[in-house]
Amino acid sequence: MLGILYVVSTPIGNLEDITYRAVRILKEVDWIACEDTRTTGHLLHHYGIQTRMVSYHDHNEAERSKELFARLIAGEKGALVSDAGTPLISDPGFRIVRGALEAGIRVEPLPGPSAILAALAVSGLPTDQFHFGGFLPPKQGARTRVLEALRNEDATLVFYETPHRIVEALADIAATMGPREVVVARELTKLHEEVLRGTADQIRATLDARDSVRGEFVVLIAKATGSEEGGLSVEDAITRLEAAGVPRMDAIKTVAKERGLNKRDVYKLVNTK
Ligand code: SAM
Repeated sequence: MLGILYVVSTPIGNLEDITYRAVRILKEVDWIACEDTRTTGHLLHHYGIQTRMVSYHDHNEAERSKELFARLIAGEKGALVSDAGTPLISDPGFRIVRGALEAGIRVEPLPGPSAILAALAVSGLPTDQFHFGGFLPPKQGARTRVLEALRNEDATLVFYETPHRIVEALADIAATMGPREVVVARELTKLHEEVLRGTADQIRATLDARDSVRGEFVVLIAKATGSEEGGLSVEDAITRLEAAGVPRMDAIKTVAKERGLNKRDVYKLVNTK
């Protein structure tokens, strides 16, 4: 008989945020595939779980998946976890889940924490529809393009962000989205948990004023209400200036300057659509 692959969510900070069932299954399986044996080892130690760990990450995924499939096909039961939260959500695991399904192996979820849902639930922003965009691109040009493409989305926008890019990401959000409601959830379930609310500019100023910006962040952006000042898209702002007789290159320069964007990025944005 084929084995089972359990996809198990683990805490995003507070070690108590794990289900009874997750602890039981992690004790019962033959192995636990994890990103980092030290991080998962800490969780296993806390709950007295002695199951063998197998490292599974972006760099050994292809090779390690083959070995794990062979074990599942031979009837073993395995659990897939990531360092924090739900595996596959901006975390490794897609290849093993997909491969297991293609091999006819049963894949069962053990739901639990994920930073997206934890942040949404306390954001105070509408949750009826949301768009999760993963991590925003590290480079300003690509990041601006992603934000620009989503500015009229009829949903709360949710992104993951790193401490060294959060301030510049907020500046780009202010420039592309206008002064709409933004929520930044930092270090959820941990000692320094905080949820900052305001416009992107206000939150950027708060973080920028600190000696250092640390921790893990989820950024949430309210959907457009249509009443934001300066709520025109970069492209529409350029078109409006052109319609008023401003040459295209001058319009691009003006809009880039007004919004604190790089001229070349704006040029690329409006010329690659
Ligand atoms: N799989 C995870 C999940 O389900 O939430 C996400 C993994 S992703 C590699 C890590 C990112 O998630 C962090 O950079 C941060 O943006 C977000 N994150 C994880 N834990 C968080 C926390 N406790 N508070 C705020 N954001 C968190």
